[in-house]
Amino acid sequence: MKKIIIANWKMNPFSAKEAEYILNGVKKTAAKLKKTQTVICPPFIYFNNLRKIIGKSTILFLGAQNSFWEIEGAFTGEVSPEMIKNSGGSYVILGHSERRALGESDEMVSKKTLVCLKTGLKTVVCIGEKVRDEQGDYLAFLKNEIRNSLNKVQKRFLRNLIIAYEPIWAIGKKDAEAMLPADIHETVIYIKKVLSEIYGQESALAVPILYGGSVGGKNAGEIIKDGGVNGLLVGHQSLKPENFNEILRSVENI
Ligand code: PEP
Repeated sequence: MKKIIIANWKMNPFSAKEAEYILNGVKKTAAKLKKTQTVICPPFIYFNNLRKIIGKSTILFLGAQNSFWEIEGAFTGEVSPEMIKNSGGSYVILGHSERRALGESDEMVSKKTLVCLKTGLKTVVCIGEKVRDEQGDYLAFLKNEIRNSLNKVQKRFLRNLIIAYEPIWAIGKKDAEAMLPADIHETVIYIKKVLSEIYGQESALAVPILYGGSVGGKNAGEIIKDGGVNGLLVGHQSLKPENFNEILRSVENI
């Protein structure tokens, strides 16, 4: 299975020109990789410009940072999975902690996840605890978040599901403050156990699990090597082509 590196640009950059600059700076490196696929998730408004740069690549893809749970209709301001697909998107990130902080509930994530999977999008569901407590309450939190966010998703739709484990306390910091690979590995095993309880071991073990939270060129390789993950979700470091390229190269060279 190829490693999956997803760039979450969030609400950046300011202009289409800058968006094109970042993508052009990444494209050359990403296009050469054999074992690593790259997904760029820009704001919707840049999709069309960036789609032209990506073209028909089989190693570099476009993804959305959100989707609505209906396909079309009177839902002002929303964008549907069909629109994402028809605009060149093949991935979608759902339930990011920044969206959950704005009021997105597990129930909403679950509805979105089902419709995105049915549309055929590779659907990245984000989970992650706010704090790590000594009593291990975060494990119960994670279990609930996984169960509730996938509440509507039956086993037959799992093929395109990806889980992104993003501990909220580790997001937006320096590389050195990311979670340690050994701790990531332990949590990944736990996530697999929870998925196995819902879907059975065989289906659960086929779901790729990514890590996100302060990944940079210095820690990307070792998180992949020792963290037991199939890829990474990268926030602020994905906006600087030279930094993001360093991440891509270090993952490819493992
Ligand atoms: C994120 O918010 O998805 C993320 C991984 O951010 P950062 O890499 O900036 O910690």
